[in-house]
Amino acid sequence: MEIVRSVADAVRAARALPRPLGLVPTMGALHEGHLALVERARTVGASTMATIFVNPLQFGPNEDFAKYPRAFPADAKLLEDAGVDLLFAPSVDEMYPPGFTTSIDPGAIGSRFDGALRPGHFRGVATVCVKLFAIAGCDVAFFGAKDAQQVAVLRHVVRDLRLDLTIDVVPTQRAADGLALSSRNAYLSAGERAAAPGLYRALRAMTDAAARGEDDRNRIIAAGRVQLRMPLREAYLDVVDADTFAPVDAVAAQARPRSLLAIGSVWIGQTRLIDNLQLSIAPQPASAASARRA
Ligand code: AMP
Repeated sequence: MEIVRSVADAVRAARALPRPLGLVPTMGALHEGHLALVERARTVGASTMATIFVNPLQFGPNEDFAKYPRAFPADAKLLEDAGVDLLFAPSVDEMYPPGFTTSIDPGAIGSRFDGALRPGHFRGVATVCVKLFAIAGCDVAFFGAKDAQQVAVLRHVVRDLRLDLTIDVVPTQRAADGLALSSRNAYLSAGERAAAPGLYRALRAMTDAAARGEDDRNRIIAAGRVQLRMPLREAYLDVVDADTFAPVDAVAAQARPRSLLAIGSVWIGQTRLIDNLQLSIAPQPASAASARRA
Protein backbone atom coordinates (compact mmCIF):
# COMPACT_ATOMS: atom_id res chain seq x y z
CA MET A 1 0.00 0.00 0.00
CA GLU A 2 1.39 3.39 -1.00
CA ILE A 3 0.87 6.20 1.53
CA VAL A 4 0.76 9.75 0.18
CA ARG A 5 0.38 13.04 2.03
CA SER A 6 0.21 15.65 -0.73
CA VAL A 7 -2.61 16.32 -3.18
CA ALA A 8 -0.13 16.18 -6.08
CA ASP A 9 1.15 12.74 -5.04
CA ALA A 10 -2.42 11.49 -4.50
CA VAL A 11 -3.48 12.62 -7.99
CA ARG A 12 -0.41 11.02 -9.58
CA ALA A 13 -0.76 7.72 -7.68
CA ALA A 14 -4.54 7.48 -8.18
CA ARG A 15 -4.26 8.02 -11.95
CA ALA A 16 -1.82 5.10 -12.16
CA LEU A 17 -4.23 2.61 -10.50
CA PRO A 18 -6.24 0.08 -12.52
CA ARG A 19 -9.91 0.96 -13.19
CA PRO A 20 -12.54 0.91 -11.86
CA LEU A 21 -11.12 2.75 -8.85
CA GLY A 22 -13.08 2.71 -5.58
CA LEU A 23 -12.68 5.45 -2.97
CA VAL A 24 -13.31 4.96 0.77
CA PRO A 25 -13.21 8.32 2.60
CA THR A 26 -12.78 8.09 6.39
CA MET A 27 -11.77 10.18 9.37
CA GLY A 28 -9.66 7.31 10.77
CA ALA A 29 -9.99 5.60 14.18
CA LEU A 30 -11.01 2.66 12.04
CA HIS A 31 -13.36 -0.17 13.04
CA GLU A 32 -15.18 -3.03 11.33
CA GLY A 33 -17.65 -0.56 9.78
CA HIS A 34 -14.87 1.13 7.82
CA LEU A 35 -13.37 -2.23 6.91
CA ALA A 36 -16.73 -3.36 5.50
CA LEU A 37 -16.51 -0.39 3.10
CA VAL A 38 -13.01 -1.46 2.05
CA GLU A 39 -14.14 -5.06 1.59
CA ARG A 40 -17.03 -3.92 -0.60
CA ALA A 41 -14.75 -1.58 -2.57
CA ARG A 42 -12.40 -4.47 -3.27
CA THR A 43 -15.20 -6.63 -4.65
CA VAL A 44 -16.61 -3.82 -6.83
CA GLY A 45 -13.44 -2.19 -8.17
CA ALA A 46 -10.09 -3.18 -9.61
CA SER A 47 -8.27 -0.97 -7.10
CA THR A 48 -9.03 0.76 -3.82
CA MET A 49 -8.00 4.12 -2.46
CA ALA A 50 -8.76 5.10 1.15
CA THR A 51 -8.44 8.49 2.76
CA ILE A 52 -7.92 9.46 6.38
CA PHE A 53 -8.68 13.09 7.08
CA VAL A 54 -10.36 14.60 10.13
CA ASN A 55 -12.08 17.39 8.26
CA PRO A 56 -12.24 20.59 10.34
CA LEU A 57 -14.85 22.07 7.98
CA GLN A 58 -17.51 19.60 9.16
CA PHE A 59 -17.01 20.30 12.88
CA GLY A 60 -18.68 23.19 14.70
CA PRO A 61 -16.65 25.51 16.95
CA ASN A 62 -17.76 23.70 20.13
CA GLU A 63 -17.49 20.19 18.74
CA ASP A 64 -14.93 17.42 19.14
CA PHE A 65 -12.47 18.22 16.30
CA ALA A 66 -9.48 18.54 18.65
CA LYS A 67 -10.24 15.41 20.64
CA TYR A 68 -11.56 13.27 17.77
CA PRO A 69 -9.69 9.92 18.09
CA ARG A 70 -6.59 9.69 15.88
CA ALA A 71 -4.72 6.41 15.42
CA PHE A 72 -2.73 6.70 12.21
CA PRO A 73 -0.19 3.84 12.48
CA ALA A 74 -2.83 1.29 13.54
CA ASP A 75 -5.25 2.58 10.87
CA ALA A 76 -2.62 2.31 8.11
CA LYS A 77 -1.87 -1.29 9.13
CA LEU A 78 -5.59 -2.19 9.09
CA LEU A 79 -6.03 -0.69 5.62
CA GLU A 80 -2.90 -2.38 4.26
CA ASP A 81 -4.04 -5.75 5.68
CA ALA A 82 -7.51 -5.17 4.15
CA GLY A 83 -5.94 -4.81 0.70
CA VAL A 84 -6.09 -1.05 0.10
CA ASP A 85 -3.75 0.03 -2.72
CA LEU A 86 -3.38 3.73 -1.95
CA LEU A 87 -3.86 5.70 1.28
CA PHE A 88 -4.16 9.48 1.13
CA ALA A 89 -3.73 11.11 4.54
CA PRO A 90 -3.29 14.86 4.05
CA SER A 91 -2.75 17.60 6.63
CA VAL A 92 -5.36 20.31 7.13
CA ASP A 93 -3.08 22.83 5.35
CA GLU A 94 -2.70 20.51 2.38
CA MET A 95 -6.49 20.24 1.95
CA TYR A 96 -7.27 23.86 2.87
CA PRO A 97 -4.26 25.99 1.97
CA PRO A 98 -4.31 29.69 2.78
CA GLY A 99 -6.80 31.39 0.46
CA PHE A 100 -9.17 28.40 0.21
CA THR A 101 -12.68 29.89 0.07
CA THR A 102 -14.95 27.58 -1.97
CA SER A 103 -17.63 25.45 -0.39
CA ILE A 104 -20.51 23.26 -1.58
CA ASP A 105 -23.84 24.05 0.06
CA PRO A 106 -26.25 21.11 -0.24
CA GLY A 107 -29.33 23.23 0.53
CA ALA A 108 -32.40 22.14 2.54
CA ILE A 109 -31.44 18.48 2.72
CA GLY A 110 -28.33 19.50 4.65
CA SER A 111 -30.16 21.69 7.15
CA ARG A 112 -32.50 19.09 8.73
CA PHE A 113 -31.75 16.79 11.68
CA ASP A 114 -27.95 16.51 11.94
CA GLY A 115 -27.70 19.61 9.77
CA ALA A 116 -29.88 21.54 12.24
CA LEU A 117 -27.92 20.24 15.23
CA ARG A 118 -24.60 20.90 13.48
CA PRO A 119 -24.96 24.04 11.33
CA GLY A 120 -22.53 23.89 8.41
CA HIS A 121 -21.76 20.20 8.97
CA PHE A 122 -23.04 18.96 5.62
CA ARG A 123 -21.47 21.90 3.79
CA GLY A 124 -18.18 20.67 5.26
CA VAL A 125 -18.92 17.07 4.30
CA ALA A 126 -19.98 17.97 0.75
CA THR A 127 -16.97 20.23 0.24
CA VAL A 128 -14.38 17.72 1.43
CA CYS A 129 -16.00 14.84 -0.47
CA VAL A 130 -16.15 16.74 -3.77
CA LYS A 131 -12.49 17.65 -3.30
CA LEU A 132 -11.59 14.01 -2.52
CA PHE A 133 -13.61 12.80 -5.54
CA ALA A 134 -11.70 15.24 -7.76
CA ILE A 135 -8.30 14.25 -6.35
CA ALA A 136 -9.03 10.52 -6.63
CA GLY A 137 -10.82 10.70 -9.98
CA CYS A 138 -12.64 7.62 -8.66
CA ASP A 139 -15.37 5.65 -10.41
CA VAL A 140 -17.21 4.63 -7.23
CA ALA A 141 -17.19 6.11 -3.71
CA PHE A 142 -18.27 3.99 -0.74
CA PHE A 143 -20.23 5.26 2.27
CA GLY A 144 -21.91 3.61 5.24
CA ALA A 145 -25.69 3.39 5.63
CA LYS A 146 -25.24 4.43 9.29
CA ASP A 147 -24.72 8.02 8.13
CA ALA A 148 -27.91 8.06 6.06
CA GLN A 149 -28.24 11.83 5.84
CA GLN A 150 -24.65 12.05 4.63
CA VAL A 151 -25.53 9.50 1.93
CA ALA A 152 -28.63 11.50 0.92
CA VAL A 153 -26.61 14.73 0.76
CA LEU A 154 -23.83 13.18 -1.32
CA ARG A 155 -26.24 11.47 -3.72
CA HIS A 156 -27.78 14.91 -4.33
CA VAL A 157 -24.38 16.54 -4.77
CA VAL A 158 -23.35 13.92 -7.34
CA ARG A 159 -26.68 14.23 -9.17
CA ASP A 160 -26.91 18.02 -9.01
CA LEU A 161 -23.32 18.66 -10.12
CA ARG A 162 -23.36 15.78 -12.64
CA LEU A 163 -20.23 14.28 -11.12
CA ASP A 164 -19.00 11.26 -13.02
CA LEU A 165 -19.03 8.69 -10.22
CA THR A 166 -21.38 6.32 -8.42
CA ILE A 167 -22.19 6.35 -4.70
CA ASP A 168 -22.30 2.83 -3.24
CA VAL A 169 -23.83 2.32 0.22
CA VAL A 170 -22.70 -0.43 2.60
CA PRO A 171 -25.00 -1.79 5.35
CA THR A 172 -24.43 -0.59 8.93
CA GLN A 173 -22.08 -2.85 10.90
CA ARG A 174 -23.26 -3.44 14.47
CA ALA A 175 -22.01 -4.88 17.73
CA ALA A 176 -23.78 -8.05 18.92
CA ASP A 177 -26.16 -5.96 21.06
CA GLY A 178 -27.24 -3.88 18.05
CA LEU A 179 -25.18 -0.73 18.67
CA ALA A 180 -23.92 0.67 15.36
CA LEU A 181 -20.13 0.73 15.31
CA SER A 182 -18.78 4.28 15.46
CA SER A 183 -15.46 5.91 16.24
CA ARG A 184 -17.36 8.04 18.77
CA ASN A 185 -18.34 4.92 20.78
CA ALA A 186 -14.81 5.23 22.21
CA TYR A 187 -16.05 8.28 24.17
CA LEU A 188 -18.60 6.19 26.15
CA SER A 189 -18.01 5.05 29.74
CA ALA A 190 -18.81 1.41 30.54
CA GLY A 191 -22.23 2.41 31.87
CA GLU A 192 -22.98 4.59 28.84
CA ARG A 193 -21.88 1.83 26.48
CA ALA A 194 -24.26 -0.60 28.23
CA ALA A 195 -27.16 1.83 27.73
CA ALA A 196 -26.29 2.85 24.16
CA PRO A 197 -28.14 -0.02 22.34
CA GLY A 198 -31.36 1.66 23.54
CA LEU A 199 -31.14 3.75 20.36
CA TYR A 200 -31.17 0.62 18.20
CA ARG A 201 -34.08 -0.77 20.25
CA ALA A 202 -36.02 2.46 19.69
CA LEU A 203 -35.47 2.24 15.93
CA ARG A 204 -36.48 -1.44 15.97
CA ALA A 205 -39.67 -0.51 17.84
CA MET A 206 -40.40 2.06 15.12
CA THR A 207 -39.82 -0.37 12.24
CA ASP A 208 -41.82 -3.06 14.08
CA ALA A 209 -44.74 -0.65 14.48
CA ALA A 210 -44.68 0.19 10.76
CA ALA A 211 -44.41 -3.49 9.85
CA ARG A 212 -47.52 -4.18 11.99
CA GLY A 213 -49.40 -1.62 9.92
CA GLU A 214 -48.99 1.57 11.96
CA ASP A 215 -49.22 4.35 9.41
CA ASP A 216 -49.03 7.50 11.51
CA ARG A 217 -45.65 9.16 11.87
CA ASN A 218 -46.30 10.43 15.41
CA ARG A 219 -47.44 7.03 16.67
CA ILE A 220 -44.39 5.38 15.10
CA ILE A 221 -42.14 7.95 16.82
CA ALA A 222 -43.97 7.34 20.12
CA ALA A 223 -43.33 3.60 19.80
CA GLY A 224 -39.62 4.34 19.60
CA ARG A 225 -39.62 6.97 22.32
CA VAL A 226 -40.74 4.54 25.04
CA GLN A 227 -37.47 2.65 24.53
CA LEU A 228 -35.33 5.70 25.39
CA ARG A 229 -34.55 5.88 29.10
CA MET A 230 -31.89 7.73 31.04
CA PRO A 231 -28.97 8.11 30.45
CA LEU A 232 -30.21 8.32 26.83
CA ARG A 233 -31.68 11.70 25.93
CA GLU A 234 -33.46 12.05 22.61
CA ALA A 235 -31.95 14.46 20.09
CA TYR A 236 -34.45 13.34 17.44
CA LEU A 237 -36.53 10.37 16.32
CA ASP A 238 -38.41 10.56 13.04
CA VAL A 239 -39.62 8.87 9.89
CA VAL A 240 -38.14 10.36 6.72
CA ASP A 241 -37.88 9.85 2.99
CA ALA A 242 -34.40 8.36 2.51
CA ASP A 243 -33.75 10.54 -0.54
CA THR A 244 -34.81 13.97 0.73
CA PHE A 245 -34.74 13.48 4.51
CA ALA A 246 -38.11 15.22 4.64
CA PRO A 247 -40.40 13.80 7.38
CA VAL A 248 -43.19 11.54 6.11
CA ASP A 249 -46.64 11.75 7.73
CA ALA A 250 -48.61 8.86 6.25
CA VAL A 251 -46.14 6.07 5.96
CA ALA A 252 -47.93 3.45 3.85
CA ALA A 253 -49.06 5.94 1.20
CA GLN A 254 -45.51 7.19 0.65
CA ALA A 255 -43.59 3.95 1.11
CA ARG A 256 -43.81 2.89 -2.51
CA PRO A 257 -41.87 3.67 -4.58
CA ARG A 258 -40.01 5.74 -1.95
CA SER A 259 -37.62 4.24 0.56
CA LEU A 260 -38.39 5.37 4.13
CA LEU A 261 -36.12 5.39 7.18
CA ALA A 262 -36.63 5.43 10.91
CA ILE A 263 -33.87 7.78 12.04
CA GLY A 264 -32.70 8.53 15.56
CA SER A 265 -30.11 10.33 17.59
CA VAL A 266 -29.47 10.33 21.33
CA TRP A 267 -27.22 12.15 23.69
CA ILE A 268 -25.35 10.01 26.21
CA GLY A 269 -23.40 12.33 28.46
CA GLN A 270 -21.37 14.57 26.14
CA THR A 271 -21.59 12.14 23.21
CA ARG A 272 -24.29 12.15 20.54
CA LEU A 273 -24.91 8.94 18.59
CA ILE A 274 -26.93 8.48 15.39
CA ASP A 275 -28.47 5.45 13.73
CA ASN A 276 -31.26 4.49 11.34
CA LEU A 277 -33.17 1.50 10.01
CA GLN A 278 -35.08 1.07 6.78
CA LEU A 279 -38.85 0.82 7.24
CA SER A 280 -40.57 -2.22 5.85
CA ILE A 281 -44.27 -1.55 5.47
CA ALA A 282 -47.06 -4.01 6.21
CA PRO A 283 -48.74 -5.29 3.03
CA GLN A 284 -51.90 -3.30 2.37
CA PRO A 285 -55.22 -5.17 2.47
CA ALA A 286 -56.40 -5.87 -1.08
CA SER A 287 -59.40 -3.58 -0.64
CA ALA A 288 -57.24 -0.62 0.44
CA ALA A 289 -54.80 -1.20 -2.40
CA SER A 290 -57.55 -1.40 -5.02
CA ALA A 291 -59.31 1.64 -3.53
CA ARG A 292 -56.06 3.61 -4.01
CA ARG A 293 -55.73 2.39 -7.58
CA ALA A 294 -59.32 3.37 -8.42
P1 AMP B 1 -16.15 8.29 9.52
O1 AMP B 1 -14.71 7.88 9.68
O2 AMP B 1 -16.93 8.22 10.79
O3 AMP B 1 -16.30 9.59 8.76
O4 AMP B 1 -16.81 7.19 8.59
C1 AMP B 1 -16.26 6.90 7.33
C2 AMP B 1 -17.22 6.05 6.56
O5 AMP B 1 -17.47 4.84 7.28
C3 AMP B 1 -18.59 6.73 6.37
O6 AMP B 1 -19.05 6.45 5.06
C4 AMP B 1 -19.44 6.06 7.40
O7 AMP B 1 -20.81 6.04 7.06
C5 AMP B 1 -18.86 4.66 7.39
N1 AMP B 1 -19.20 3.98 8.64
C6 AMP B 1 -19.00 4.43 9.91
N2 AMP B 1 -19.52 3.56 10.80
C7 AMP B 1 -20.07 2.55 10.08
C8 AMP B 1 -20.77 1.35 10.42
N3 AMP B 1 -21.00 1.00 11.69
N4 AMP B 1 -21.20 0.55 9.42
C9 AMP B 1 -20.97 0.89 8.11
N5 AMP B 1 -20.30 2.00 7.73
C10 AMP B 1 -19.87 2.82 8.70
